[in-house]
Amino acid sequence: MNLLRQLGKMLAGGGMSGTSGDRGLYYYVRCNRCGEVVQVRIDPMNDLSAADGEDGLFARKIIVGRRCYNRMEAEFSFDSNRKLRDSRVSGGTFVDKDAYLEDQQKAAVKSGN
Ligand SMILES: [Zn+2]
Repeated sequence: MNLLRQLGKMLAGGGMSGTSGDRGLYYYVRCNRCGEVVQVRIDPMNDLSAADGEDGLFARKIIVGRRCYNRMEAEFSFDSNRKLRDSRVSGGTFVDKDAYLEDQQKAAVKSGN
């Protein structure tokens, strides 16, 4: 499983560039099909668009993990202060960062064998 190991390295080093001033918003979604936890980054400058018919902002993300071909579709709505107001996802489940880190660790252990 060299591929997974490489992916793990990429993920581990992924925050190296531009750690200062990263304005991204991060969410985590667990794939309903394989259980992989995928990080979703929303860039407020690029990903948010005005919501129809109400105040606030809206973002839509198609998420595909690395372990299977399941497509997850997440929608986020924010108020005018860019605070998350509502979120939903199809094909997956929202989880917290701890679940994401745990999943990364499991993948790393697997690739070590
Ligand atoms: Zn999956």
